[in-house]
Amino acid sequence: MNKREELYRGKAKSVYETDVPDKLILFFRDDTSAFDGKKIEQLDRKGMVNNKFNAFIMQKLEAQGIKTHFESLLSEHESVVKRLKMIPIECVVRNIAAGSICRRLGVAEGLDLNPPTFEFFLKNDQLGDPMINEYHIQSFGWALPEQVAQMKQMTFAVNKVLKDLFLAGGLLLVDYKLEFGLFNDEVILGDEFTPDGCRLWDKETRKKLDKDRFRQGLGGVIEAYEEVGRRIGVCFD
Ligand code: C5P
Repeated sequence: MNKREELYRGKAKSVYETDVPDKLILFFRDDTSAFDGKKIEQLDRKGMVNNKFNAFIMQKLEAQGIKTHFESLLSEHESVVKRLKMIPIECVVRNIAAGSICRRLGVAEGLDLNPPTFEFFLKNDQLGDPMINEYHIQSFGWALPEQVAQMKQMTFAVNKVLKDLFLAGGLLLVDYKLEFGLFNDEVILGDEFTPDGCRLWDKETRKKLDKDRFRQGLGGVIEAYEEVGRRIGVCFD
């Protein structure tokens, strides 16, 4: 498969067209960003770590019947994925309160959310990814009702699989963000699942082992990503 021109440059990944019309190459760069791109740094090994972490998780999800765009690892920094028509919505599930929900609702970080809660955000950096609801999605035509139902169902299915996977490694899956797209009109999980887009805490100490280390200037960002990976069985060699 040959890489063609860059189709899209995100904050941490670049997407390339290939000579196969329905396949794209994701290139995981070493860039790390936070606060809608206002804080950006290059972190050594980050692209490789996230590429392999994402491949591992996507394969686990596929094995449990959750359809994803992931096809194969291509190199240290690259993966082959199906070309999706992306839905411009972020789906967030929270098992424990942290981050924006604490600021918005004035709840303490660490509060158990039972049942887990679900939120939609519009993917729009300029607007700061505002929270939206299902009526907004219908009124603005961002997705059909059955697609919204699918996204919700799949996001919770991911929770069932990954909560247990991380728990086996002594980790709490606090929250995560997923993005979906359409492949032949079917809703498929797209984008990535890495510690950039979720929160993971050590079960005993509640030490943060995700992108909050970067957001909050705690240091040891990639070391934490690698520790999480090793605990769940990702091979980085
Ligand atoms: O910031 P907030 O608490 O709403 O984030 C919820 C979860 O979604 C976190 O795991 C965060 O890393 C992820 N997220 C993301 N990309 C965004 C917004 C949130 O990966 N643009």
